[in-house]
Amino acid sequence: MDFRFTAQEETFRATLRAFLDQELGEGWSGHSGDTLFAFEDEWLEAVAFTRRLARHGWVAPHWPVEYGGAGLTVMEQLIFNEEMALRNAPVVNGPGIGMVGPTLILHGSEEQKRRFLPRITAVDEIWCQGYSEPGAGSDLASLQTHAVRDGDDYVVNGQKIWTTNAHHADWMVLLVRTDPDAPKHRGISMLLVDMRTPGITVHPLPNMAGLHTFNQVFLDNVRVPRTHLVGEENHGWYVGVTLLDFERSNIGANARLRREFGRLLAALRDSPYQNMRTSLRAQLADLAIAIEAGRTIAYRVAFLQSQGKIPNYEASMSKLFHSELAQRLANVCVQAFGLAGQVLPETTWHAPAGGRFCLEYMESVPATIAAGTSEVQRNVIATRGLGLPRA
Ligand SMILES: Cc1cc2nc3c(=O)[nH]c(=O)nc-3n(C[C@H](O)[C@H](O)[C@H](O)COP(=O)(O)OP(=O)(O)OC[C@H]3O[C@@H](n4cnc5c(N)ncnc54)[C@H](O)[C@@H]3O)c2cc1C
Repeated sequence: MDFRFTAQEETFRATLRAFLDQELGEGWSGHSGDTLFAFEDEWLEAVAFTRRLARHGWVAPHWPVEYGGAGLTVMEQLIFNEEMALRNAPVVNGPGIGMVGPTLILHGSEEQKRRFLPRITAVDEIWCQGYSEPGAGSDLASLQTHAVRDGDDYVVNGQKIWTTNAHHADWMVLLVRTDPDAPKHRGISMLLVDMRTPGITVHPLPNMAGLHTFNQVFLDNVRVPRTHLVGEENHGWYVGVTLLDFERSNIGANARLRREFGRLLAALRDSPYQNMRTSLRAQLADLAIAIEAGRTIAYRVAFLQSQGKIPNYEASMSKLFHSELAQRLANVCVQAFGLAGQVLPETTWHAPAGGRFCLEYMESVPATIAAGTSEVQRNVIATRGLGLPRA
């Protein structure tokens, strides 16, 4: 077992750090995660930053150079994700970079790869994910949005919900039912949909912090060219779950926790409000151990990818572990400072870490729901990982 990185990988890390020093200094001070999508000025800054990454081929570093990537190895991509997360770097277009692109590389036609991938890496087109519906979340295969062939097009009708960042998106990766008579997993197809197509309406859906990060999307007789079908018709379920495996692997999650844990320790050292009880010290020690253990889980996902495998239950393990750990950490953050830890930035200057802990707490709640709930991840681990029978 050798956990060291190679000399080439360390050189890449140093080059990236120099770039980030110049671009972001200690790190991006704006909002992070989905919260960024609610602040127009920060969104525009983030787009500009991502375009500066594009000049180095670093929007999707391990994609092939011909599609606008930098052709780096999976391990270099891991280093990239770690360093970016440690600086809280505001990269936009997660669904395009992390899900749509890798799925097209595996399942897309050559024409689709050439049309869509370079525009993702150039940050010319932003993507959103149209999977969930009011009656189809964990049980995604129950989705009702349907597409009917008409000449060279599909005609799509239905509704999607919780569509993150649809209000900025140019394209949507959409799951639709194309055979209503087939067993529910078999009659689904994946389409790539231009968000400017007539018949698409995007309605804001404010989150629990009152911020506009996700949306409802209504599709009313929306015409989608048949050339925008990914893979075979009615085989979209299998294409779609590949995308979920990419979504869950999320190897930056551990670095984000390390960053937030470091911020907590720094705030505790500085704050007049903290009360370093024995129980708090014990909680901090436990968090330090869990974050270290999580790093190994995250590295395993990257290792599997570096072997050309698609992590499946291993990705679920990482997603489950890190999203639940993020909630534990956020809980400790708000409690460590008494009432001062529970105020938002704009409410008072007393808020430790500029009121970030309260926002992080609210942001951590959906982490165990988005991209498949914790219960669903446990089901995946039990059945596909441990080989246990389905209930
Ligand atoms: C912040 C955020 C962003 C999101 N962004 C997007 C997006 O961009 N695009 C998109 O398509 N979707 C998005 N989603 C939706 C997300 O994928 C769904 O919320 C998720 O799949 C859960 O579905 P649901 O909300 O319908 O809950 P339900 O599926 O109705 O689940 C309700 C409860 O029942 C439990 N449950 C359900 N089935 C089982 C089972 N078989 N075994 C045990 N327990 C079960 C669940 O764990 C949960 O606790 C987002 C969600 C969040 C929170």
